[in-house]
Amino acid sequence: PQEVVTAAQLPALAKQSFPLCMQNMHSRLHADSHLKHFGRLELGLFLKGIGLPLEEAMKFWRAEFAPKVQGEKFDKEYAYNVRYNYAKEGKRTDYTPYSCKKIISIPVPKNEAFGCPYKTLSPADLAEQLRAMRLPQRSVEEVVAKARAGHFQLACMAEFEGRHSCICDEGINHPNQYYDESRKVLV
Ligand code: SF4
Repeated sequence: PQEVVTAAQLPALAKQSFPLCMQNMHSRLHADSHLKHFGRLELGLFLKGIGLPLEEAMKFWRAEFAPKVQGEKFDKEYAYNVRYNYAKEGKRTDYTPYSCKKIISIPVPKNEAFGCPYKTLSPADLAEQLRAMRLPQRSVEEVVAKARAGHFQLACMAEFEGRHSCICDEGINHPNQYYDESRKVLV
């Protein structure tokens, strides 16, 4: 059975094991106390996929939005989205977390935080972010070169290898697979 993750564990897990796409959405949400539709969907489904149950997801989103939106307004405008991700609203389809291919294929308007950062960030911004994560310089160069060449998932794999000091034979095709591989290496 899958491990259950709590809202309180998310900041540490993000730092250790979230791929860059999810790290960026998570930190933008925290900084802005808000995240637009696709961000909520991509991050929300990813969090469900790593084992965050509905009650913990509600706790997490409510706390993150609290500086800007609380109480009834949150319940009306955002709680529905959270339950929707868990198939408690709408068509009640059990939505699965988005794959890399799907995330890469959705166009990202300027200044929005969702999507694959290997595609959306400029080489300079990407390099700065990787250095801030203390990725070795050799890996930073490799990742940026792959991203520049349009090989976004290979860039992600090179980042995984630099960050975890290991070889990733599987390649990266899903943010939740990235997370699972990371937990296997770290735990
Ligand atoms: Fe996320 Fe996939 Fe892009 Fe990696 S390649 S940052 S897991 S969308």
